[in-house]
Amino acid sequence: MSKQGHPRGLYLLFVTEMAERFSYYGMRAVFTLYMVSALFTMESASEIYGYYTGLVYFTPLLGGYVADRYWGNRRSIIVGGLLMALGQFLLFLSASFVQPSIQTEGGTINPAIDNQLSIVFLMGGLFFLILGNGFFKPNIATMVGSLYRPDDKMKDSAFTIFYMGVNVGATLGPLVCGIFEGDYLNPTRFQWAFLCASIVMLLSILLFSALKNKYIVTYDGIQVGTKPFRQVQVEKHQLTAKEKQHIAVIFIIALFVIFFWAAYEQAGVSLTYFADQQTDRNIFGWEMPTSYFQSFPAIFVVLLAPVMSMLWELLRRWGCEPSSPMKQAIGLALLSLGYLFIAFGVKDVSDGTKVSMMWLTGLYFIHTLGELSLSPIGLSMVSRLSPGHLAGLMMGIWFLSSAFSNILAGQLAVLYPDGSPKLLLGFIPITSLHDFFMVFVFMSGIAAILLALLTPLLNRMMKDA
Ligand code: GLN
Repeated sequence: MSKQGHPRGLYLLFVTEMAERFSYYGMRAVFTLYMVSALFTMESASEIYGYYTGLVYFTPLLGGYVADRYWGNRRSIIVGGLLMALGQFLLFLSASFVQPSIQTEGGTINPAIDNQLSIVFLMGGLFFLILGNGFFKPNIATMVGSLYRPDDKMKDSAFTIFYMGVNVGATLGPLVCGIFEGDYLNPTRFQWAFLCASIVMLLSILLFSALKNKYIVTYDGIQVGTKPFRQVQVEKHQLTAKEKQHIAVIFIIALFVIFFWAAYEQAGVSLTYFADQQTDRNIFGWEMPTSYFQSFPAIFVVLLAPVMSMLWELLRRWGCEPSSPMKQAIGLALLSLGYLFIAFGVKDVSDGTKVSMMWLTGLYFIHTLGELSLSPIGLSMVSRLSPGHLAGLMMGIWFLSSAFSNILAGQLAVLYPDGSPKLLLGFIPITSLHDFFMVFVFMSGIAAILLALLTPLLNRMMKDA
């Protein structure tokens, strides 16, 4: 145990996850910008972004299952990490071979036609990133839970610390990879961003492999994640009625969480277009790279996580701490509020006008409060509610909701006003930025209300967990 009382293994998992998220968010910060600079139109790039980020969260279901049954957590993490390093490397090759776009006389930028090779490398890279994340993501989170006794009260704070690791990585990734932001004249420059993401991923896996045996052990010194659960548990385990109820709670909440991430993940796509085209990024004469905006939520998480923990602690002492499902509903409500804030900011803004950064910054600040109310609490809740032999799979189910969200995010981003007519659900016209942002106000607001109404029932179902 370290001085603070958390097992040292938590910090190794913290650093490993931090480096992996560096690579994930570093790549993601420049991904859409790279695609639109040379390969695809904005609409196609939005859809590819949605499918990529969606599938990235779909494969954890597979990775969780494989770890529970065959590989154990450790091997899954190492294989996953190596696959992701390879994926980023293929993106590096994609950008190395890319040809600049062609600007027509009318000023329109058209992707160059001879970029097939880059597209093939891009798709190959995305494939390995998707597969690799599936093995990595659920297993690292499950291992955090396994370092503690099932009833250990420190689990919530362990997940909050771990979540800070996620976000230190998510802050640094875009800041470092964003240095290599190219544009339609020089798309090759993006290659260095992808190479950087690949190297950091590889280093993280080397570190994890070197230190795992020493630090990834339970409170009583047993190695964690070396074997699949099936070999640890001798009897075949039948689910009890209580366990079935707990699993049902995970499913119900995961369903609502879809609407959270679908709105939140606009960060990498429509909000990036907004930052690029409609936000004044000039700070005392320095033009901030567009991709830097994607660090904002992560910076806010690192700053606000301790504040939120203190707030929950204070509310607990006063006897009015919201239950976990209610915290998820609050998270959704804050997301809706963030979009309301920006919708107000752009209300009378015409196309091409640039607004102050204050709007996007304020939105990210409010969204982060929502994220902290929902995401680490969700991880801890899944760890607490999952029957041991299904821990990886259940984590996979939790991330599955992010898969649907991200696909939905890409579809919704297509509604971003770009001059062509847009219809929500085939009949609601979206004619301005204000309309576009209001879609998210309603989507997450309605989900928040419904979840809050269901909370008493969910609390009853979660008893004894
Ligand atoms: N931002 C968090 C991460 O990258 C949560 C993502 C999610 O659950 N969709 O791990």
